Amino acid sequence: MKTAILNKGKETKYLNQYPLIDKADIFKHDQLKDGDLFKLLTDSNQYIATCYVGEEHKGLGYVLSYDEDEPINQVFFEKRLREAIEERDYFYQKEGTNAFRLFNSEGDGIGGLTIDNYDGHLLLTWYSKGVYKLRYQILKAIDEVLSYKSIYEKTRFKDEAIQSGYVKGEAPEFPIVIEENFTYYNVHLNDGPMTGIFLDQKEVRKKLRDQYSENRHVLNLFSYTGAFSVIAAENAASTTSVDLANRSRALTEENFGLNAIDPKSQYIYVMDTFDFYNYAARHQHVYDTIVIDPPSFARNKKKTFSVLKDYPALIEGALPILNEGGTMLLCTNSSAFPLKQFKKMIKGTLDELEIDYQLDEVMGLPRDFKTNPHYKPSKYLKAIFVTLLH
Ligand code: SAH
Repeated sequence: MKTAILNKGKETKYLNQYPLIDKADIFKHDQLKDGDLFKLLTDSNQYIATCYVGEEHKGLGYVLSYDEDEPINQVFFEKRLREAIEERDYFYQKEGTNAFRLFNSEGDGIGGLTIDNYDGHLLLTWYSKGVYKLRYQILKAIDEVLSYKSIYEKTRFKDEAIQSGYVKGEAPEFPIVIEENFTYYNVHLNDGPMTGIFLDQKEVRKKLRDQYSENRHVLNLFSYTGAFSVIAAENAASTTSVDLANRSRALTEENFGLNAIDPKSQYIYVMDTFDFYNYAARHQHVYDTIVIDPPSFARNKKKTFSVLKDYPALIEGALPILNEGGTMLLCTNSSAFPLKQFKKMIKGTLDELEIDYQLDEVMGLPRDFKTNPHYKPSKYLKAIFVTLLH
């Protein structure tokens, strides 16, 4: 097998099972191409791990095994998959939920690959050309250990020759309807990079419904398909969904319809968030709960938005339309914005405006998004409920 030798003194983090091989830590390596297996060695040629080449960001690839004698073949992938399935037993048994992440990249031992289960329809996401080279073996392993209705795939790397989409099984008619915490959502597995629902927010959505919606007027910003609005509407006095994209209106209405909520009874605006702030303030609309779950980065005709730069303005703009004692749900999925810094930004923004508040709850990823304890960036989700004090 090919080898890559670490720079002197760089072995500690890998001996401590850091799963992503940083290119800058490599002293020299054999000629490597995407998908190749290689042994990671210390500068004195001691074995640390067996890895594959799959370039992502600054990474050369991921560790697959710490056992020099463990062959990386179909049986290896079956084993990793079986372990992941066993860990998801809770979700397989759970009533009222049939969509969850079945395999979460380095959290489940194969960095660069996620598998989501949408009521038996599997969505595989390949994050590098290298992991895609392992595709054939992984698909065979899936056939061996999983029963499914269909398989779809998406790629997160650029290669004109590779088509995302249908792989095998019985192709359903999209959208399919999935259930999560007794709420229904439409899902498309073959329509652009997103599916209609972000499964990582399942616990946050539930908390919103159970604790922050009852008899409240709930505003959902960056609402996309209205997932937060739809679950909140089960208890709320009203919901208002705001998204810049035209498509969001129909998708949100359909999700309300699935849950026997008349879409006409709810408010939907196709509008930029900051324009909506002005509009709502002008019309003296006020809310009891405001959900802010923006993309990390967005560009529209007028300007660019980035969470790192613009979050304070998002909070500041929400305050004039938030009732006394009201709650903001502040989210970001940016791994460039770690929890500590996110909390500091919230504190800094509210302190400067002399607003009294409490952090009710700090939430992260749900358990199906299993993370690797040795790899901090994988805990990318932050969702914080902040309540204003009188
Ligand atoms: N909160 C959503 C996910 C948001 S995805 C959920 O829980 O499902 C990001 C969304 O932000 C996209 O639908 C995009 O159209 C919208 N968006 C991007 N920039 C925006 C802006 N300036 N104002 C309002 N919506 C915006």
